[in-house]
Amino acid sequence: MILDKEQLRANLDKVLSDVEEARLKVSDHHIVKLVVVGKYTELENISTLYSLGQRAFGENRVQQLKERVEILEDLPLEWHMIGTLQKNKINNLIDLRPSLMQSLDSISFALELEKKLKAKDRKMHCLLQINASREESKSGVSPESAIKIYLNIKESCPSIHLKGVMTIGAHSEDESLIRESFETTYIIYKKLEKDGATICSMGMSGDFKLAIECGSNMIRVGSALFK
Ligand SMILES: *Cc1c(COP(=O)(O)O)cnc(C)c1O
Repeated sequence: MILDKEQLRANLDKVLSDVEEARLKVSDHHIVKLVVVGKYTELENISTLYSLGQRAFGENRVQQLKERVEILEDLPLEWHMIGTLQKNKINNLIDLRPSLMQSLDSISFALELEKKLKAKDRKMHCLLQINASREESKSGVSPESAIKIYLNIKESCPSIHLKGVMTIGAHSEDESLIRESFETTYIIYKKLEKDGATICSMGMSGDFKLAIECGSNMIRVGSALFK
């Protein structure tokens, strides 16, 4: 559905004021970056959000990312990859020069990415995805192994610049379970700060306020903006 500018402005204002309220509960100094997830929506809505001041956008499929990067190449947008990627798509992703790859989810993927980045003499900023809720349907490393894997990738993959962690909140009606998955991820993030982690990406349409209260400084929001 293509939304008009006033509708998108109202939706964006609502998200931004919710973000403001949640971040002030943490601290005056706590800054949260909004990445708009366009996977459910039309390209036109992305251009409209750009005209309203939004710059960072995320996609979960390389093909869709490619189409949009190419069509909107004249706009100064920042593109994030947020979805699980097959290894045979790595070269396509590298060629799109995403500003952040948020879904690095295993050592074997990191090693393959490193090899292909090196061959192209390129670097990529990435987040390590953590499966904090331990749901089988979700990608990511286990919370127990996260720090070891993060340091291992940092050590063995010089073309990958790890910037922090990403998680998807528990899929549950029970807020305490969602909170637990965010708290688990935040603890790991804090431990990695001394190793250069600056981004803790957690929170989507249904749970970004809670995620921010748990320390998130990057949220990925789709459906709340496109209704
Ligand atoms: C789809 C998606 C989002 C956004 O989800 P909404 O609930 O629509 O806000 C955020 N992160 C990831 C990894 C996604 O796949």
